[in-house]
Amino acid sequence: MVRTHPVPDEWVVGQLLRSPDRRGATRYEQTAWGRRYASSDGGIRELWLLSFGTVKKERSSAELAAAAHTVAFGVPSTAGYGEPYHPVEGLPATRTARPQRVRVVGVGCGDGGSAVLLDWDVEEVRERYTEHAVPALSRAVDGTGHVPGSSCVGCKALNGCTTLHRAPGVLALPPGRPRLRRSVSASDLRAHDECPAHFHLTRQLKLRSPRPESAAILRGRAVDAWLNERHAALSARGCQHMAGPEDPGNWSAGGHALIGDEARTGARMLTEHAALCPLNGLGPGEQVRVQPQLTCYDPELDVVVIATPDLLHTRGGGWIWRETKTAGNHLWEGRSLMRTYPQLALAVLMMASGILGGDSRRSRVELEMLYPNDGGLEELDPGLPSIVDEARTVIAEMAGPWLRDTSYDPNPGRRCGDCEALDWCRPGREYLATLPAPSR
Ligand SMILES: [Zn+2]
Repeated sequence: MVRTHPVPDEWVVGQLLRSPDRRGATRYEQTAWGRRYASSDGGIRELWLLSFGTVKKERSSAELAAAAHTVAFGVPSTAGYGEPYHPVEGLPATRTARPQRVRVVGVGCGDGGSAVLLDWDVEEVRERYTEHAVPALSRAVDGTGHVPGSSCVGCKALNGCTTLHRAPGVLALPPGRPRLRRSVSASDLRAHDECPAHFHLTRQLKLRSPRPESAAILRGRAVDAWLNERHAALSARGCQHMAGPEDPGNWSAGGHALIGDEARTGARMLTEHAALCPLNGLGPGEQVRVQPQLTCYDPELDVVVIATPDLLHTRGGGWIWRETKTAGNHLWEGRSLMRTYPQLALAVLMMASGILGGDSRRSRVELEMLYPNDGGLEELDPGLPSIVDEARTVIAEMAGPWLRDTSYDPNPGRRCGDCEALDWCRPGREYLATLPAPSR
């Protein structure tokens, strides 16, 4: 393998038009984020794409072709803040020469692993760029739709945005803008409530251990994926007659493979779902949305609130928000449903804010529980003041500390043993060391 060396200049493909095109633009620039390397003679260029944890291999063909194109045809360039790029002057020919080969390499910063994602000559780059990247780039520059989500946090046009649903008070906190605009979900609040350090490390810094997830979590992901695929199929109107996995002892869904007892338990959970499926008997005119992202904005706190229901559908003029959970054992009956699953409380508040519209008297939040040999359905009415009051209490108790926190102190406990951030948390490791060996 030919040795490569770091390259300081950005590679930029620029296009300057003599007159404005149909979009009113006179200039296009393409860059690719990553670390740049080249052989001494300039014949080989590499782009290293860094990811947290392990190498991210599932990149679209459009993304890879666009990156390769910038590496192959990019001119070493520089730019001042907010200025267009311009070529760097006075470079030796080896730095400005067009390479013959281009590699894009994925690098996992968590485990130090790497993988060559593509290794193409310039002709192949040109062909793949035309086939895969050009259509995607055209859609990107022509796109004028609004897709509210976590990117709303950095959006300068948020104040004038008419697509983003305004929901003052959705987190049940008094107005106040303690810090910069942020986004939050129910799982963020839950993670922070359990341990602020865990929240900070895994959700803000995105540091997660490469250790495999527990069997129960993996099984839950497979069951979720199976049901999502089933519900998303246009022909599916209810799972009451669903044929489960062909081999209950060995099946996979959404890239999550199960085998043996876990697979059989998961297959039995799917059977339990068949009777509880919210789409059973649903009329042909009703709307069904599988795992849609819902986003609303509390302008008084400057917080973007995000939720992804497992399934949303209309029925008789109202909206039904269905969450599905798998568990090895029954719920502990003594604790309120919304405290156990704060995402239900947030769902109640988002629905009560009118994010979905429809007839609020016919709308509800549902929790479907799937156990190995049993299933159950719980309902919450977001139109009942007592339900909304409880949801407000649950969310306020979690959102208040989250919003005010600036230090993210660890809260060591028995959960530390399964914590994804344990590798980076000394207090957690010290706590575990004090436990008798079998408890760790
Ligand atoms: Zn179903």
